[in-house]
Amino acid sequence: MKNLTLESYFYNEIQRELSINWTASDCLEGVFKEEKITLKYEREVLIDDAIIHFIFASVVIPCYAIIHKNYNISIYSNLHSPIHENVFKEICLYHNIKNVTYKSNVTNDRPAMIPVSDKVGLFYGGGKDSLVSAAIQGEIFGEEKINLLRLVWDEDINNLEKKSKIINESLEFMSDKGFSSAKVISDFHFKVINRSVGKIPGLALYSAFMAPIFVKENYRLLSFGYDSTEFHNSVSKNRAIPFRNSRPNIISHLSNAIFMSTGLAINFKNFNYSMTPYVAFKLLSCRYNNYYSNLYMCERLAGKWCLKCRKCITYAFACLANKQPCDFNLKYFFEKSKYVNDLALETVGNSVNNLNGLHIDKFSHPKHFCATVELVNDIDLDYAKKELLDLQYPRAYYNFIVIALRYRHLKYEDHSSFWLAAYEQESQHLNNDPNNEIKNSLLNILKESNIKIIENKKITGLNRDVEVYYDYN
Ligand SMILES: [Zn+2]
Repeated sequence: MKNLTLESYFYNEIQRELSINWTASDCLEGVFKEEKITLKYEREVLIDDAIIHFIFASVVIPCYAIIHKNYNISIYSNLHSPIHENVFKEICLYHNIKNVTYKSNVTNDRPAMIPVSDKVGLFYGGGKDSLVSAAIQGEIFGEEKINLLRLVWDEDINNLEKKSKIINESLEFMSDKGFSSAKVISDFHFKVINRSVGKIPGLALYSAFMAPIFVKENYRLLSFGYDSTEFHNSVSKNRAIPFRNSRPNIISHLSNAIFMSTGLAINFKNFNYSMTPYVAFKLLSCRYNNYYSNLYMCERLAGKWCLKCRKCITYAFACLANKQPCDFNLKYFFEKSKYVNDLALETVGNSVNNLNGLHIDKFSHPKHFCATVELVNDIDLDYAKKELLDLQYPRAYYNFIVIALRYRHLKYEDHSSFWLAAYEQESQHLNNDPNNEIKNSLLNILKESNIKIIENKKITGLNRDVEVYYDYN
């Protein structure tokens, strides 16, 4: 017997705390430490059986189904209301799981259709992608229409309070600009047995945990920010499609499931689907300059920037390229950071012994290589000299120039442009811009910001020196 049963849920309206309980047969161990997750909401929510079914199916079922992929698992629910037949099917399609069968009552009755409001929810992480997405949507729809939805999580439950505090600073900044926000604190990443289980639900984790909010608010649009470079085709035919669960054709299963569960015809949209990191930084420094200082990319518990990671150096390059004030002392960073010194050393080695290609892990995320090269090549060397050359920091400019010169001969113009074909492919799959209203506003913003718009349906890039391509046919 391989059974997974949704047993019950409890919602404490005063604490706004929701717990969901289930049981699993003994042979299904090695997925969760405890068969229970708890969510705490910062604003009013709507909780009912349909929402709980949606959360359970989106988050808990795929963890078991993927870890125990050689078993056929029977799913039961002890909740009073039956689940819509297609909710379960759509979520299985979304997660690409075929080894589960739903055994409890199902219904074909659709819930009454809820009229959508004019509000938009944005899964807000605080990095360049969600920040630029917030700024763009603020300009197009009005800041007061946008709710920033923030999931607070950590593998160590003792860090939640500290994390919450850092997040509050960034949300207060956005609140001053007119946005409202809601935090959801979750112990999911603490309850799963290890990090790899925590990654299984993907984007569905956010839509599931935020569902009680967006059904209460009747959002018409739910946006999230994963940049364009994530979505290249697989290098090898045997490997899984990268970022499958965040692709427009797959996400449509999630919006179908939400509609069948709740009657809310919500549309998903990823404003960053057609934007490389280069474009995001460019918009943040040219058009949305008043947001630039609210960039939170590194987010270590010690503070806003750790000065020893790839996100910190990407931010440093972006500040130099766009002549923006940097949150930390750039001279100190390029002089003292062990990360930078190691990268400079590796770059010299890579340059002398050019056998391993150009990719250096410390220089950029493998998928961001082309966009980072474009960013670095945008840096005005006289400006960098002015910012970095200092007797007190004798190595700073040297370290910078060693890294920068390695890539000066390269050009990946597509990666400093906006990908129109990607935009159109997404809006076609998700029907999130039927009259091209968003598109027209966005193109206007891009033109005014001097960002090149390209129409290519196939774009090439590099991932660890291997050529990859993006396909928008
Ligand atoms: Zn860092």
